[in-house]
Amino acid sequence: MATFLQKLSDLAHGDVLAEGPALEPYCRDWAGRDLGRPLAVVRPRSTAEVCAIVKLAHDCRVTVVPSGGRTGVVRGTYADRALVISLERLKAIRRISQEANTLTVEAGLTIAEVQAVAWDHRQRFPLSFGAEGSAQIGGALSTNAGGTNALRFGTARDLCLGLEAVLPDGRLLNELSSLRKSNTGLDLKQLFIGTEGTLGIITAATLRLFPMEGPRTVVLAAVPDADAAARLLRKLSSSANHAVEAAEFMSRSFVAALSEKGGVRLPFAAPTDLLLLEIEQPSSAPDGSPSAGETVEGLLAAAFEDADVLDAVIATSEAQRKAFWAIRERAAEVAFSRHPALATDISVPTSSVAPFIDQAHAIRRAIDPASDAMAIAHLGDGNVHYTIWPASNSTDLLQRLELEIEALAVAMGGSFSAEHGIGRDKLAAMERFKDPVNLDTMRRIKTALDPHNLMNPGKVYPA
Ligand SMILES: Cc1cc2nc3c(=O)[nH]c(=O)nc-3n(C[C@H](O)[C@H](O)[C@H](O)COP(=O)(O)OP(=O)(O)OC[C@H]3O[C@@H](n4cnc5c(N)ncnc54)[C@H](O)[C@@H]3O)c2cc1C
Repeated sequence: MATFLQKLSDLAHGDVLAEGPALEPYCRDWAGRDLGRPLAVVRPRSTAEVCAIVKLAHDCRVTVVPSGGRTGVVRGTYADRALVISLERLKAIRRISQEANTLTVEAGLTIAEVQAVAWDHRQRFPLSFGAEGSAQIGGALSTNAGGTNALRFGTARDLCLGLEAVLPDGRLLNELSSLRKSNTGLDLKQLFIGTEGTLGIITAATLRLFPMEGPRTVVLAAVPDADAAARLLRKLSSSANHAVEAAEFMSRSFVAALSEKGGVRLPFAAPTDLLLLEIEQPSSAPDGSPSAGETVEGLLAAAFEDADVLDAVIATSEAQRKAFWAIRERAAEVAFSRHPALATDISVPTSSVAPFIDQAHAIRRAIDPASDAMAIAHLGDGNVHYTIWPASNSTDLLQRLELEIEALAVAMGGSFSAEHGIGRDKLAAMERFKDPVNLDTMRRIKTALDPHNLMNPGKVYPA
């Protein structure tokens, strides 16, 4: 191992963290959970350096864990005695094309940095979520991150036209195309999107950009329940006069817990279920001005009449827009402010979000009557973060609750992992719920590309 570390140090010009406090940030995740103790951490400055380091690790049979912004929630960067390759220094902007609406960047740029680059060129990169200030493009692609705008723009996969990845043996796979059409056999870039660094390390990507935003309406609505929220979203989505970008449902238990913590001004007196909507309106309606009943205000008034909305506030300033979003962005903090907390990340068909929440409450109460829960849902894409605060920290209880909630989602035609991935934490669910033929196909691909199981082992594929 001493020889490996010496060769590694030569490749990285002496810049290797192998002991001492510098290693500490790589031993725990953002929530303080154990990620093991890496053999060493290396932070290459170029794709060529990543190739050379991965080849060395391959030849010496050292396991490798790619590391991005380290905001993942399923311990995908667990790296006990493995070499951590951190992409944090791969930050070059390789190319921006305003004509083609594309941007090619290296993997270590954060989502917020990519958004800013696009903005500077009067374009927009729409991927957005609470951890965007730290999460990197490479991490977001490798987990196929979703976030709040997936309703309109899809997940990270839908925003990627091409990518460059280092294979487990150190060779470089160049799929850095910006073409919208190219049918030339397997779409190899898809092997690296959503596979959490188990098939290779993403070093750069070509991303889709979109025109600057039109005028926006941001609404915070108090709603009686998730069913009413879904009806309101359907009405808004079926109007041709605007595009709903985000529809975030927040349960009253979350709102109550947030009020208790303080630091936020809620526009409604009593805690209710909330629906946060961000809607883009074209600068001018296609066939003249929309009628009053077709505007956001008109649709909200009709929903009020139907008792689907109890009260609603439309943001009148950028400060108020930010204040509404600040409520939603505190979801992770509130979820983990109680201990123990069990976070799930399921998806169901969009029409089943409200029934899922109701049935999840019933299942949870039957298993653990003294427990409590909050639900945050990306309502438009069926993704529900149902967080349980169990009455005790018993491992058996936590496992039972988690598997029963995931089983409910699967029984409703949904997924046990919507946007966070599998990592190390969802291996039991993967074993239980993934179709055996699908799992076998995945394992065969993994073995073909990484026969020595050196690239992020112990994640995604159950043993
Ligand atoms: C407050 C908060 C809010 C969040 N909200 C959302 C949300 O709305 N939607 C959502 O989808 N996720 C969300 N997440 C989860 C997380 O931010 C995403 O999974 C994100 O995409 C991870 O990116 P990262 O750069 O931090 O990756 P990391 O955590 O560093 O890594 C995640 C996985 O990707 C692998 N990896 C990292 N970089 C590369 C690379 N260059 N090549 C290959 N593999 C790599 C790692 O090995 C690991 O398996 C949230 C997290 C937090 C803390």
